[in-house]
Amino acid sequence: MKLIINAIRKHLGMFLTAIFFLSIETMADLLQPTFMSYIVDNGVKEQDIGKIIQYGAIMLGIAAAGALGAVMRNIFASYTSQRIGKEMRADIYKKVQTLSFENIDRLQASSIITRITSDVTQIQNFINGTMRIMMKAPITCIGAVALIILQTPQQLPMMVLIIGIATLLIGANMKLGYPRFGRQQRKLDKLNEVSREFLSSIRVVKAFGAEQQEEEKFGEAAAEFSSAGVSATRVAAVFSPLINLTVNMGIVVLLWISGTGEAGKIGRTMASVNYMTQVLFSLGMVSNILNAFVRAVASAQRVEEILQEEPVQKDGANQGGPELLCPRGSVEFRNVTFYYAGTGRPSVQALSFSVQPGETIGIIGPTGSGKTTLVSLIPRFYDATEGQVLVDGTDVTQWSMDRLRENIAVVPQKALLFSGTIEENLRWGKPDASGEEIVHASKIACADEFVEGFAEKYETSLGQGGVNLSGGQKQRLSIARALLKNPRILILDDCTSALDASTEASVLAGLREQAEGMTVFLISQRISTVMKADRILCMEDGQVRGLGTHRELLDGCPAYRAIYESQIGGKIYG
Ligand code: ADP
Ligand code: MG
Repeated sequence: MKLIINAIRKHLGMFLTAIFFLSIETMADLLQPTFMSYIVDNGVKEQDIGKIIQYGAIMLGIAAAGALGAVMRNIFASYTSQRIGKEMRADIYKKVQTLSFENIDRLQASSIITRITSDVTQIQNFINGTMRIMMKAPITCIGAVALIILQTPQQLPMMVLIIGIATLLIGANMKLGYPRFGRQQRKLDKLNEVSREFLSSIRVVKAFGAEQQEEEKFGEAAAEFSSAGVSATRVAAVFSPLINLTVNMGIVVLLWISGTGEAGKIGRTMASVNYMTQVLFSLGMVSNILNAFVRAVASAQRVEEILQEEPVQKDGANQGGPELLCPRGSVEFRNVTFYYAGTGRPSVQALSFSVQPGETIGIIGPTGSGKTTLVSLIPRFYDATEGQVLVDGTDVTQWSMDRLRENIAVVPQKALLFSGTIEENLRWGKPDASGEEIVHASKIACADEFVEGFAEKYETSLGQGGVNLSGGQKQRLSIARALLKNPRILILDDCTSALDASTEASVLAGLREQAEGMTVFLISQRISTVMKADRILCMEDGQVRGLGTHRELLDGCPAYRAIYESQIGGKIYG
């Protein structure tokens, strides 16, 4: 609610201008029946053409003013609400950028999308509606009641009664509708999530012939959303006719009263019935706008939830941490345990080891053994639940986040490329990289060879997520992007998995040359990939099973030996 008020306050000038034009429009609507009654009572009844023309001209003038007011009000209302929507979206977007992975895991990406799109639209519609009609209803009510008191005061008690009943109905409608709209919005989140998941995994779904299953999942989410919608609409469906009934009954009763009491004054009777309709119609509008209000408040709450979300991680620089310029690249884990939020089991447990600057450390272990989790603690994608991760002897939470991440490059397991040209994608690593640097990095990553094969070479456009490349090509580009950054610490998370053995070997050889002095974490499930690393960390169930050179592990680490035998086979000492 505060969100909506603040948004309006920020654009108060525009808002009030819209209200001003709205008032002109409303006044015009209000005056029409009065002049109509003059025409009927004075002009028509006395057959005075001059008066008819005179009043007619005034009515025309009022109608013109009203139309102008309506047009202007429309322009200002649309402009203001669009502006507010745009700013609100930008605020959410900016906020999301500052959040930690843990926040985003908790909020869920699909829910953030619904908030940026549908929730902001609800708020926008409400604000627009406010400027269009909400203010019109009270002005009409007060104005019409005043004119009735002036012209036909005996109808007032009846009117108050009718307004009272209508107000009660509207109140009940709001009370019942409120929680239902909130529920509908949450179901929309779920539906978005299912759709997103399906669309991003469509290949896998098709490959496994799992369309049926996915269809059921989607059908379920869609059904839940629709039943929540039905339940929300049902409330309106019960109350709208009730309110209408009150309005129409009111007209009948009032016509009857004025018909018997004010016989002879046809024009005045027409006018008062017209006012009656206007008042009750306004009340109907109030109930509509209140529905919109209820939705907008529910949406505003959801938007506020994001805007008020505090990043789980604090930037070390803001806590007076050291402003280290350039780390040497030593990394130490001190008894580190990490739980993902909402899981009861640690994903990595009691990790203690240290890595020297310039060392290449291989990490091997089966899927789910915690390799990705381990390395994501270094650039602070997540923070250790227990224990400490240190870079150059300083706890990573004490580092300035920017400084820390500037010096680390991560090549994720699943290569992430953006839509744009290949060159634009590579420049993510270093915006001011020269053409030579780009080609050099691409050569080391063995990307140059296939890029040169494209007609437009580095200018080739990639679809969203690099859809027009093979998995191995994407991997090589994302390695080149990381190399271009020339980081102190390079994290390669199983990013050569889609390369054939000889390409992988030449990428690794190039890396070894380029990575002189760089600390490298090289994750793989393949022994052949990590074998040549300075030391190898063997992970299983989130724990370190062994740390040493290939030979040392073969001798001393049964887990490593088992992997070796399953992949390379044979006896080692023959
Ligand atoms: P690896 O990289 O070795 O395959 P991960 O580090 O990805 O293993 O996963 C380790 C464990 O943590 C697994 O049990 C996995 O299910 C869990 N896990 C990974 N990411 C998340 C997450 N975002 N939320 C909850 N659990 C997760
Ligand atoms: Mg992994």
